[in-house]
Amino acid sequence: MTCTELSLDSVRSGGFARFPLGADPGAPWALLSLRPLGSMRFLHDRPNPLREDFFRDRGIDPGRVLAVELVHSRTVLFPKGPAELRGIRADGLIVEPGPWVPTVTVADCMPIWIRHAPSGAYGILHSGWQGTGILAAAVRGLEERFGARPSEIDAFLGPAIGPCCYRVPEDRARGFRAEFGPEAARLEDGAWRLDLGAANLGIARSLGLRSVTRISGCTSCDGDLGSFRREGPELFTRMVAAAVCGLPGRDAA
Ligand SMILES: [Zn+2]
Repeated sequence: MTCTELSLDSVRSGGFARFPLGADPGAPWALLSLRPLGSMRFLHDRPNPLREDFFRDRGIDPGRVLAVELVHSRTVLFPKGPAELRGIRADGLIVEPGPWVPTVTVADCMPIWIRHAPSGAYGILHSGWQGTGILAAAVRGLEERFGARPSEIDAFLGPAIGPCCYRVPEDRARGFRAEFGPEAARLEDGAWRLDLGAANLGIARSLGLRSVTRISGCTSCDGDLGSFRREGPELFTRMVAAAVCGLPGRDAA
């Protein structure tokens, strides 16, 4: 498995970050809104004009955007369009090449973009501590639906809360290590800390993915990123993470 690290600065462009999910010209693009653009929260029954503006400003019709309410699960859906997602809760969306723009929101949890280049399938996952393992569920889904081999799949781990800031109770850390290995949590400066990046890298390695690209940055340390821990439960800024085929607004700042 090849592993590449990108700095957030190298992929940011004004109020958002973007990078291609592959080196080929047909690769879909990853988008991540940053904190200054405001909260991109999605609820089925409450429109969020900030979200709609974010997509319109990128040249993306909000009617193409797919979203579900998040529940920190390992459930990945493979929708054919928005109609079947009404009222649905899950934490991952994967689509075939086409107009749809799968999204999740994050604020300390890790956004993970995934792509199976041979079929063109691409998607986005929401992976916090409770949902860690959703990457493996997504790979299984790609195997079942597209006959994908793990060695054909690329994953992109977005910025999340780092071990510098992610102190957790000992029992949670020990449970995390038991499931994801010793790298996934460690005792440092007298506190147990989770490392979502290391946990997901370990999962990707054990699955045998073709490549993993990590976008560095700690959401709690970097004031330009939304963070539940730093901003607090009332005020935190949900960033939207999206994957889009063709990016008409890609040259727009
Ligand atoms: Zn930090």
